[in-house]
Amino acid sequence: MKRFTLVLFPLAAAAALAAWYSNSATAPAGSLFSDGPGLLLAFGRLAGITGALGVLAQLLLVSRASWLEPFVGLDRLTRWHHVFGLVVPLALLVHPPLIVWHHALQNGSGFIAQYLDVLRWEDVLAAAAGEALILLAVFLSLPFTRRRLGYETWHTVHLGAYIGLALSIGHQLELGGDINAESRLFAGDWYLILSFVTANLLWFRLLKPLWLYRRHRFTVAATRMETDSVMSVQLEGRELDNFSVEAGQFALLRFWAPYFRWQAHPFSFSREPGGGLRFSIKKLGDFTARLHAGLKPGTPVILDGPYGVFTAARMRRRKALLVAGGIGITPLRALAGQLTAEGEDCILVYANRRRSDIVFADELAALEKAGLKVVHVLADEPGWTGEKGVVDAAMLARLAPDFAGRDAFLCGPPPMMAALRRGLKAAGMPEENIHYEAFSL
Ligand SMILES: Cc1cc2nc3c(=O)[nH]c(=O)nc-3n(C[C@H](O)[C@H](O)[C@H](O)COP(=O)(O)OP(=O)(O)OC[C@H]3O[C@@H](n4cnc5c(N)ncnc54)[C@H](O)[C@@H]3O)c2cc1C
Repeated sequence: MKRFTLVLFPLAAAAALAAWYSNSATAPAGSLFSDGPGLLLAFGRLAGITGALGVLAQLLLVSRASWLEPFVGLDRLTRWHHVFGLVVPLALLVHPPLIVWHHALQNGSGFIAQYLDVLRWEDVLAAAAGEALILLAVFLSLPFTRRRLGYETWHTVHLGAYIGLALSIGHQLELGGDINAESRLFAGDWYLILSFVTANLLWFRLLKPLWLYRRHRFTVAATRMETDSVMSVQLEGRELDNFSVEAGQFALLRFWAPYFRWQAHPFSFSREPGGGLRFSIKKLGDFTARLHAGLKPGTPVILDGPYGVFTAARMRRRKALLVAGGIGITPLRALAGQLTAEGEDCILVYANRRRSDIVFADELAALEKAGLKVVHVLADEPGWTGEKGVVDAAMLARLAPDFAGRDAFLCGPPPMMAALRRGLKAAGMPEENIHYEAFSL
């Protein structure tokens, strides 16, 4: 069923493009084989259809759909969304001028006068406003603008793209010459595409987390400071035996209390399955600082997840090398617990600045007794006699001489992960054996 759902959108999109081809090759006004204004109309319509399909595909990528996410992981889907987000607007940008140009040539009018006239056509003004909202979301996501905005501001404006799409739907169905009611088959195809995307967004992003809450009633059971800047949050709930999580996965948490309820943030499960639902949160910005200061036991939690493919299911070998930097320990703590319990050969290299930054020190010591090999690397601890400095591929090769025959799981600051991925590959570790989790979506 999941595989069928995977091909549904591409098939329906191909049918919409077939509609464009069939109409453009036969209808005189949009003939692909004419060399006059008809060609402008044909390509203007193509730009409109591909632009709309592109935006819809973009929404599917971030819909968190369970028929898609487990194949690649939410972080990779989000990265694809960022990359395609730079291409899709090109189609949206060229759609209006091509259509206007066609009509201007046909009517013998000026381009601007024709543009203003087209804006008065049915649903076109709403579609133009919708396109502006979508393009604004894209502009604010470009690296140089995104860097200047706080996450929440950027995210709120980004949601405007949904309104943008809604505003353009009337225009697609009224004026979209290839998909309007005159060709029932293609109009049906377009309705199918719109309903499919809307249903996925509504279910996976909105209703499913609420349904999960209704079923499990997740609530904060207790909080506990692990270090000066990391607090663990233990959840309790009902029927948790029916809520399955793999070690290494994460969830988006919305704490249902004033201020917190307006934002959902991703955090990794920091215990292996069977060890309870625990998240360990580093104080980093506004939201996490307020959580540390004010999260109370008894707070309801809307949990959206689990997500992610940073799990033992991806292992190709039976031995693992886990490398954590700072708060990147959370998914690796869960993986280390699971792999040690299963008796796997597992080494954890854990980098911090100081001894007091080590999270889960006692738990790791207990896992060490159960067979996990733990190496703490400290960059800045006077008197530390263990491993010192920065973790790099050479250090890993020294600590685990058989590293190339292991699966590496990396989670830490982005520069550390980038350097390790490069170094491990250069040292002979196959790329498919290197798994990593970036703490950014
Ligand atoms: C898959 C994943 C797993 C994570 N696991 C953990 C964990 O176990 N423990 C932990 O302490 N942190 C974890 N993080 C990071 C955590 O989500 C951020 O530190 C937190 O959201 C910061 O929020 P803030 O407002 O306090 O800080 P800010 O300073 O506002 O944000 C810092 C950065 O966090 C990211 N961020 C902020 N808000 C959001 C949001 N609502 N959704 C997505 N990203 C956001 C942005 O990249 C932002 O630049 C994880 C992140 C991801 C993506």
